Amino acid sequence: MSAIWFGGLQVRRLERGQTPVADLHCTACGLHVRVTGRLHVADFLRAQPMNEHRATCPARAASTERTAA
Ligand SMILES: [Zn+2]
Repeated sequence: MSAIWFGGLQVRRLERGQTPVADLHCTACGLHVRVTGRLHVADFLRAQPMNEHRATCPARAASTERTAA
């Protein structure tokens, strides 16, 4: 199975004639976002959703609070 991982982001089905699927998976808070379709996936990747999520991840915020305390 061919897959490319960008941190918590997995992109599959990039072969010719297939519909690309991007899965954003945050193991910290359990968030799962799926985007399908070549254009949607391209836009999704360009937006760097993992960076964006890191800033707002509820689990990460909680652990930062704990570390700071
Ligand atoms: Zn998260």
